[in-house]
Amino acid sequence: MHNKAPQNSATRKILSNPARQAFAPQTPGPKATPAAPAAPVESTSPAKPRGKDSVQSKPPKRKSVQPVQNSGQRGPEVADVLILGAGAAGLMCAREAASKGLSVVLLERGPVPGRKLAVSGGGKANFTNRAVSPKDYRCDGSRGNAFCAPALKGFTPEHMLRLVQEWNLPFEERTHGQLFLTVSAQRLVRALTDDCRKHGCVIACGTTVTAVEALADGFSVQTEGGSWHGKALVLALGSPAWPQAGGGGAGYRLAEELGHNIIAPRAVLAPLRLNSDSPLLDLTGISLPVGVTLGQHCWEDDLLFTHEGLSGPAALKASLYWAEGAAITLNFLPEQDVAALMDAPQAGKQTPRALLARLLPQRLVDTLLPEETARRKVAELSRAARVAIVEAVQRHAVTPQATAGLKKAEACSGGVNTDEVDPKTMRSLLQKNLFVVGELLDVTGLLGGYNLHWAWASGMAAARELARSATARAAAPATD
Ligand SMILES: Cc1cc2nc3c(=O)[nH]c(=O)nc-3n(C[C@H](O)[C@H](O)[C@H](O)COP(=O)(O)OP(=O)(O)OC[C@H]3O[C@@H](n4cnc5c(N)ncnc54)[C@H](O)[C@@H]3O)c2cc1C
Repeated sequence: MHNKAPQNSATRKILSNPARQAFAPQTPGPKATPAAPAAPVESTSPAKPRGKDSVQSKPPKRKSVQPVQNSGQRGPEVADVLILGAGAAGLMCAREAASKGLSVVLLERGPVPGRKLAVSGGGKANFTNRAVSPKDYRCDGSRGNAFCAPALKGFTPEHMLRLVQEWNLPFEERTHGQLFLTVSAQRLVRALTDDCRKHGCVIACGTTVTAVEALADGFSVQTEGGSWHGKALVLALGSPAWPQAGGGGAGYRLAEELGHNIIAPRAVLAPLRLNSDSPLLDLTGISLPVGVTLGQHCWEDDLLFTHEGLSGPAALKASLYWAEGAAITLNFLPEQDVAALMDAPQAGKQTPRALLARLLPQRLVDTLLPEETARRKVAELSRAARVAIVEAVQRHAVTPQATAGLKKAEACSGGVNTDEVDPKTMRSLLQKNLFVVGELLDVTGLLGGYNLHWAWASGMAAARELARSATARAAAPATD
């Protein structure tokens, strides 16, 4: 049992907290030479990464510093929790676990934490939605999106709002219940990292994880600057979407190394490309609200025509459910009944072109309407011709060629198969004391604040379980 570890002053401090007792630092490992000059720490804990070249030294004094580009940063000799990836999910998990007394080290390859969070929501972070439920998510595991239910129940939009208010971050509600900050998303990153720091987390930036190994009593994590050890490991490495802000596929590889299966990732929440001969490509710049139907999914939102195809929230949402070869049905007048419009007595003398141009941009009407009927009087049109007009305007089928690539995708569907993860705790069912959170899991939300909410909810679920099991272990009678 770890409560037999030698007690220096820092160890005593940790042991004074029951949640920490279970994972108190162990007897120091083998001695070696330091790989890099001793760097400032953000932790009250008594050690540093054990690289091949590192050496045991006296417990460092507590200092409060910004996370820095530094592969020699010190952390606990054996952290209670090692979190890989300081994005939204990793930071939330770290904050909560550390607030419960666990020693936490976050390893982040970027120069600063939370880079994707900082660019989210156009820089204003659509941090949650008024209404969040499993139906807002896609999971391809056997439980489908029911997998999300326990974590979403444990951390609701109200919980997140309370935090945002505690942090004094102003916000506003936009359409469809989307909650955005009215200040820079960078402020949300700072609030999270300040909390992490306040609770003694080490955030080691500029630390690229290259390999992980499960040991009998925890995990060893290799980085370019040495190895780190943790009793528990949280994979919070996100997805390859938006590589400009740190997206990458390392999480999939590391999860596979630990025995997990990956559901093939796909760039989603991305614009949809159309074939180069599509007449819709002539509509660049037009934006309008539309209804979208794709399989059993349907919604109304704004569509933007671009020189490549379809963009705007309506198209980005479609990309989550679209599969190659599938057609999307667009309703350009979701609030109207075009058949009834044409049947109205006063419509008879007008052309369909003129009738519809009162409701839609003329360029769009001209692209949609069959040429042979567009300029004839409505009263002269056969029933079949009227049905064809309704089809063109209200049930317009488009088959995209592809989604725009990872560089334009706000997320990736796919990831660690949710069948291999406990839905209440994010605990791996395959590997002891391993947790998987955030976008790395095969859980992808629609546009609207759902992906950040999943990052918060899954990070919290893992942190609560880490604290619960640490307390349970501390309370258990010693067996050695
Ligand atoms: C442009 C854009 C806008 C978005 N806007 C919104 C929005 O407004 N609302 C919303 O709900 N969602 C939004 N999303 C989606 C949302 O940002 C993500 O789903 C969310 O950030 C995922 O959080 P995460 O912690 O799982 O992953 P990430 O935030 O991606 O964090 C993973 C971290 O792991 C680090 N990492 C990767 N590999 C390694 C390695 N080998 N070693 C060490 N560290 C590594 C990365 O640098 C990164 O910091 C947006 C996404 C993008 C790209």
